[in-house]
Amino acid sequence: MPDKGVILLAYKTRKIDIYNQYVDEETEQMQRSVSKSNFYKIWQEKFPHLKIKQTNSFSKCNTCTKLDAQLQATRDPIERDEIKGLIKAHNYRQMMERKYYYSKRTQAKENKQRYMSIIIDGMDQMKTNLPHFLGRRSNDLDMANLLSTHIQGVINHGLETFTKYLDMNEYAHDSNMVINTILKELHGTSVQMSNFLPPTLYVQADNCFRENKNRYTLGFCELLIWKNIFREVHLSFLFVGHTHEDIDAGFSKIADKLRRNEAGTITRLLSLIPNTRQLRGLYDIKTWLTPYLNPVSHHTKPHHYRFYRNHENRVIAEYKGSHNSHWKQLPSTILKQIPTGIPKILKPQNFHKLNIDGLEKNIDRAKFLFSDQTQFQWWKRFLSYLKDLKADTDEQLKYAKEQARWLLPLLPKQQEGSNSDGSTQPSRIDPELHEMVDKELDEPQVRNNLVFIFIRDIPDTKH
Ligand SMILES: [Zn+2]
Repeated sequence: MPDKGVILLAYKTRKIDIYNQYVDEETEQMQRSVSKSNFYKIWQEKFPHLKIKQTNSFSKCNTCTKLDAQLQATRDPIERDEIKGLIKAHNYRQMMERKYYYSKRTQAKENKQRYMSIIIDGMDQMKTNLPHFLGRRSNDLDMANLLSTHIQGVINHGLETFTKYLDMNEYAHDSNMVINTILKELHGTSVQMSNFLPPTLYVQADNCFRENKNRYTLGFCELLIWKNIFREVHLSFLFVGHTHEDIDAGFSKIADKLRRNEAGTITRLLSLIPNTRQLRGLYDIKTWLTPYLNPVSHHTKPHHYRFYRNHENRVIAEYKGSHNSHWKQLPSTILKQIPTGIPKILKPQNFHKLNIDGLEKNIDRAKFLFSDQTQFQWWKRFLSYLKDLKADTDEQLKYAKEQARWLLPLLPKQQEGSNSDGSTQPSRIDPELHEMVDKELDEPQVRNNLVFIFIRDIPDTKH
């Protein structure tokens, strides 16, 4: 599991900006603020787990970018106050979304028999390019011709596992990859829980709004209801540009490890990062679902979806824009009917993009940089295999079929009437949370930074 306590502030956050924000807030409240050096000291001593994100694996949030730019552009105090108010409201909303996510995470941790919660995301690619050397030796490599690899991570909150899948960009990073990863995680969980899955599934997934590809992931989540694998499935999309602590912290830990350790080969990289395997045996679930999808036009806006069967045993699809809006029913389900047959094995689309010659030149040049020559020999064998793969579509199919197993029929189904209360209504998520949120919304001064509140209670020794 990633560091539990670590809280990450957005990439490129400056400590001085946080301090200035604190001073502004205190002044507004007619409170005296502590000195800058004291502020930093308190941060270091009392909040060692509050860190600034060192990598930028997410594009910045549009709203934040625009508000920041507006604030920089004006000196007018009234305008500035207005913008600051908007920033505060925006940050508050983001925090509430995170709390909503935390509440689902907590449910799964506290009651594994009833809830399963997972979060899926990809790691910033540059970190895991191979071969990976440390110090001066890395300067002798041609950085443009490395084998680029990518890590897709899944945290399972109930089981407290963080599974990582390594690929070399041979597959597109799209909803097919997300769905295949979810399926692998569901199967792994059912095996670990002795052929059992809890009735409710929460999925927090990467937000790939581009190309409107979400409908495949939505269709797949709904299919899990049609197939009685779950009674209720929630799919929530992460907000672009805002940190998602647990999985981000997990990826940061990998990046830290790579700052201290070399990974000459794929094998070495896999053994370096715990619970990591190669992403293999994918199915083309997108193409399989396509003929069964109802046309849905507004599926990119809402951040939350849920699927369940109502008292008439009909599958219901609902959505809401944010954590505190009401669920609204979609005019139709995502799927027209249950897809028949099984999807085809997904052939890796990107082997032709590999610059094997460039990589080979790089490896030859690096021959004596490897800590032992077996690594160099590994590359020689691997490069010749890659050449075969690139040239031969039959070889590619063979590659795609390796470790391929269609897992959906292997997943256990929910037992009829296994709900102790006999209802098939969806469980309600933490109703107290909604109350709490509403209450907080009524408060005129919203404080989203606990540090400020904490620091206010500490007398400034310098004054
Ligand atoms: Zn934002």
